[in-house]
Amino acid sequence: MTQKVAIITGAGRGIGKAIAEHLAAENYFVAVADIDGVTAKYVSERLNAIFPQVSRHYVLDVAEREAVFNLVDNVVADFGRLDVFINNAGIAYINNLVDSDPDKVERLFDVNLKGTFWGIQAAAKQFIKQGDGGRIVNAASLAAVEGSALQGAYSASKFAIRGLGQSAAKELAQYGITVNAYDPGIVLTPLRDYIDQRTAQIKNTTPTDQRKSVIDEIALGRPAKLDEIADLVSFLVSNKAKYITGQSILIDGGMRFH
Ligand code: NAD
Repeated sequence: MTQKVAIITGAGRGIGKAIAEHLAAENYFVAVADIDGVTAKYVSERLNAIFPQVSRHYVLDVAEREAVFNLVDNVVADFGRLDVFINNAGIAYINNLVDSDPDKVERLFDVNLKGTFWGIQAAAKQFIKQGDGGRIVNAASLAAVEGSALQGAYSASKFAIRGLGQSAAKELAQYGITVNAYDPGIVLTPLRDYIDQRTAQIKNTTPTDQRKSVIDEIALGRPAKLDEIADLVSFLVSNKAKYITGQSILIDGGMRFH
C-alpha cells in the first residue's frame, strides 16, 4: 500500500506537534506546516531522525488563502498526493468584549475561522481531483460548545468552525471525504499559558490560582496529555472512523457533556 500523506497546520509545537509525531509513527508522510519556520524545521528534523525522510516543513500563515493553496500544491509536488488535512493552527485572544482590540479580533477570525475555511477548500479540491476520498480534521474546542467570559472572539471562531465542518461534511460526503473536529478542554501548551495568564491579569488573580480553578472543573482531575488528543485525531483519520463525519468530539476529561 502506498504511504499516506498528511498536512498538519500549527505543527511546530503543542497539539499539532503531537499529531505530527503520531502520524509519522503510523507510517504517514508528514508535512509540518507552521507560521514559525524555526519550530517547524525542528519538529520535521526530529521526525526524520527517527523515521528517515518521513517529513518536510512548510512555512505559511494559514490566514492567507493563496499560501494555503500553495501549501497543498507543494506537498503534492513533494510527496505525490494528499490524504489527510489537519486544520490545527489557532490563536487565542483574551479580553473583555468592551475593551477588545479590533485588529486582534480581526486577526483571530482570519487565522482560526478563515484559515480553517481555506484549509478545507484547498484540501477538498485536491481530494476531489484525486478521486479517492480524504480526511479533514479541524481543531474546535470546548469553547465551541459553551461560551466563556473574556473569550468572546475565540469562542465565536470555534463555534463557527463546528458549523463550517458540519456543512463541509454534508457537501463533501459524495466524494468520500469525511470532516470532523476535536474539542479539547484543557491541554497544557503555550496557548493555554497565555489564556491563564491573561485571564488572571484581568480577574486580578494569579495564573496558578486561575489554572487551579479551571482544573477543578475537570471530572478526571487533570488536563489532557498531548498524546491523548493526538490519539483521537489518529482515530478520526483511520479506517476505523470511516463512517464518522460532521462530528465534533469533546475530549475534556468530563468538563461538560452535550
Ligand atoms: P499552541 O499555541 O501551543 O500552538 C499553535 C501552533 O500554531 C504554533 O506552533 C503556532 O506557531 C502555529 N500558528 C499560529 N498561528 C498560525 C498561523 N496563522 N499560520 C500557521 N501556523 C500558526 O496551541 P495549541 O494549544 O497546541 O492549540 C492547537 C489548536 O488546538 C488550536 O486551534 C487551539 O485553539 C486548539 N485548542 C487548544 C486547547 C488547549 O487547551 N491547548 C484547547 C482547545 C482547543
